[in-house]
Amino acid sequence: MFRSSHVAEPMVPTTLFSSHRNKAPGNRAVSDPMRGSRLLLGLLFSVTIGLIAYRRRSLSRSGIAGAMVTGTTTFGMGGWSWGLSLIFFFVSSSIFSHFRARDKANTANDKFSKGSRRDFAQVAANGGVATLLALSYGLAHSRFLRKVCLTGYAGALSTATADTWATELGVLSLHQPRLITTGKAVAPGTSGGITPLGTAAAASGALAMGTVFWLLQRCQRSLAALPLIALVCGLAGSMVDSFLGATVQAMYYCPHCQKETERRVHSCGTKTQPLRGIAWLNNDAVNFIATLCGGLMAMTVQAGARLWSKAK
Ligand SMILES: [Zn+2]
Repeated sequence: MFRSSHVAEPMVPTTLFSSHRNKAPGNRAVSDPMRGSRLLLGLLFSVTIGLIAYRRRSLSRSGIAGAMVTGTTTFGMGGWSWGLSLIFFFVSSSIFSHFRARDKANTANDKFSKGSRRDFAQVAANGGVATLLALSYGLAHSRFLRKVCLTGYAGALSTATADTWATELGVLSLHQPRLITTGKAVAPGTSGGITPLGTAAAASGALAMGTVFWLLQRCQRSLAALPLIALVCGLAGSMVDSFLGATVQAMYYCPHCQKETERRVHSCGTKTQPLRGIAWLNNDAVNFIATLCGGLMAMTVQAGARLWSKAK
């Protein structure tokens, strides 16, 4: 048995990359003869996309390296649908980052720790959990495990999408953000501040990711819950992000501008002072934890559904 029909991937045409080798029967660890070709193709794609993104100022140099690791692993271990869903996340996020960039720079850019150019840490923070799940999916033997990894991947990536869309669009809100914890009104761009527009953007991003991934899985009936799971887990994951941002994320204060910021050195050049939060828990660490929560929630739902259907 090679691959389960439920989580099967459209293969690269064998005429294009014919690396079929005979495998000893029962050697299940190397059950995917196309993996080598796909890893190579994934590397080719991610280098190309990374360079385009670098030229379009969406990625920094270290960000290209992050995109290569993430893209190659996801495409190589998951397949076309996984790779394309990652591209959907990246392209939609880049579009929203550049969308009305000047307005955003005036209101909130100052508060964010980095510009719109993503570096290695940011790529790893948003795509690290999804990449690890793609790797687990590729190495897993049982159909059940693969399905759990696939659902977890959708949960992690929908959290990243929800959070990015919410951050990029939420700052354009006409409503003043309120802290997710206390409801106190805060300046636009403050970590943990939420607006109706940002929350709607988060929900749309999570649902869009789940739907796109399900469509790419050729709308398999056994995966029909993916859009809903992605919506719920992605939105919940982005709430975790806001909650951590409002409570434990490291925030600094610029004595020169008398402003709160995520930056250690403010945009004005002044070294900032610690204001609150845990020093190592920067925005990247918060994003990583949030995507981990989104992924774990989705995996729990998928595993729970199976146990429940077995118990019946
Ligand atoms: Zn300053």
